[in-house]
Amino acid sequence: MVQAFTKVLIANRGEIALRIMRCCRDLGIRTVAVYSTVDRDLKHVRLADETVCIGPAPSGDSYLNIPRIIAAAEITRADAIHPGYGFLAENADFAERVESSGFHFIGPTPDVIRMMGDKVSAIREMKAAGVPCVPGSDGPLGDDEKTNLSLAKDIGYPIIIKASGGGGGRGMRVVHDADDLIQSIEMTRSEAQAAFGNPVVYMEKYLEKPRHIEFQVLADQFGNAIHLGERDCSMQRRHQKVVEEAPAPGIDEATRRDIGARCVAACQRIGYRGAGTFEFLYENGEFYFIEMNTRVQVEHPVTEMITGVDIIKEQIFIAEGRPLRYKQEDIKINGHAFECRINAEDPVTFMPSPGTISQYHAPGGLGVRVETHIYNGYTVPPNYDSMIAKLVVGGNLRESAMARMRGALSEVFIDGIKTNIPLHQEIFLDEAFQKGGTSIHYLEKKLGLDKH
Ligand code: ADP
Repeated sequence: MVQAFTKVLIANRGEIALRIMRCCRDLGIRTVAVYSTVDRDLKHVRLADETVCIGPAPSGDSYLNIPRIIAAAEITRADAIHPGYGFLAENADFAERVESSGFHFIGPTPDVIRMMGDKVSAIREMKAAGVPCVPGSDGPLGDDEKTNLSLAKDIGYPIIIKASGGGGGRGMRVVHDADDLIQSIEMTRSEAQAAFGNPVVYMEKYLEKPRHIEFQVLADQFGNAIHLGERDCSMQRRHQKVVEEAPAPGIDEATRRDIGARCVAACQRIGYRGAGTFEFLYENGEFYFIEMNTRVQVEHPVTEMITGVDIIKEQIFIAEGRPLRYKQEDIKINGHAFECRINAEDPVTFMPSPGTISQYHAPGGLGVRVETHIYNGYTVPPNYDSMIAKLVVGGNLRESAMARMRGALSEVFIDGIKTNIPLHQEIFLDEAFQKGGTSIHYLEKKLGLDKH
C-alpha cells in the first residue's frame, strides 16, 4: 500500500540534512529538523517547517540518541524518518525502533541492515548471489593455529585480518608473513571485542594496489532493482574519500553491465529496499566485494549528475511503498562528474579548523553544483565531521569536467577558517590523477604519508 508522506523528520545535520530538506520541499512534504544546541543556526534548521532541539553538542546526547529522536517524531507527528548518512543511518536497532514506534524508516529493513553490517554474513550472501569477493577464509576464523596458518598459506601473504563487526576503517590488520599471523589474529580479535562488542574475525587476501570502485543500486519492496553504474573513490586519505568521480575511468560498458547485474541479483536475494552501495576493490581487471553500505552516500551526487536520477527522491518514493519508477534500460550514463569534499581543516597538517566563516563566495556556472550548509557568519562547530561542503562538477568528457572543476575550485572563497581546497587544487593538477586509475594508496604516497 502506498502511503504518501506529509511530514518527514530528518535525523541528521549539515549538508545532507539540507539536501534531504530540499528534496522534501520539491515533493511538497513538510520537514522536521532535529538539532543539537550548537546547531541551532544550521541552514536547514532555519528553513525547516518545524524544529526540535534534541540535546547538547555531543552526538551521543543528540544525533545518536534514539529515544530523543523518536520523541521528536512523536511530538511533531512525522510520518517517516530519513537518517541521511553516518550517525544512525546503518543502525539496525534504530531502524527497528523507528518502525515499532509507527514511523516509516527511509532505508532498508532492520534485518537487512543487520545482515549487511556483519561482514561475514554479508560476504556469504554476496557469494551466493554471484558477486565476486576477495579470496579468503569463507567465514569466521576459529582458534586452531594450524588451520589458520595453512589457510593463510593457501591464500598467500600478505593477508588482512578483519573484524566482522568492523567499520570506519577500523578493526583491520595486514599480515606479511606467518611469524606474525597468530598474534595478529589475537590482537584483532580482542580489539574487535573492545570496539564493536563482537570478537568474530575473518581473513582475506590483502590486495596491494587496488582501486575503490562502488556500484549504486536502487531497489523497491516488490523485488525490482536497478543499478546506476559505478563511482571511483580511490582518492583517499586514512580510508576517508577525498575526491570521487563517475563513471570510473577505464570501466567498459560490458563490465559495468556484468557487475551491476550481480549487484542487482544480490539486492533481490537479500530483499534489499532503498538506495544502497556495493563497495569493491578493483585490481588487475577484477572486482572484489568488500562491503555494502545500506544508506545514501556522501558521493551520491556524482551519480545523480551523470544519470539524472534524484537518489534521495527515489529513496522517499520507495519508502512510501511505490514501485521503482525506472527500469534498467532507462538508465543512461551521460558525461562525467567529479566531487571534491571540502573540509574545515588545515590542507597540510589535516588538523580540523573549526571557527566562524567570515566570508563565503560560492562557485557557479553550467555543470557546477554546491552542496553545503555554510553561509557568511556561520560557525563550524568542533563537535562533528569536518566536511563543510561538496563541490560537484560535471562535463561531457572527463577532461572537460576536470577543467571545470579547476575553475570552480579557483572561484570558491572561504575566509575565517582553513580548508583543504589547496589539496584539491593540487589533486586536479596531478598527472597520474589526470590520466585516471590511481590506486587507493596514491594520495597518501603523494603526500609522503604512505610506505607502499
Ligand atoms: P570499513 O567498514 O571499516 O570501511 P572495509 O571492508 O570497507 O571496512 O575496508 C576499508 C578499507 O580497508 C578499504 O577501502 C581498503 O582500503 C582496505 N581494505 C579492506 N580489505 C582489504 C583487502 N582485502 N585488501 C586490501 N585493502 C583492503
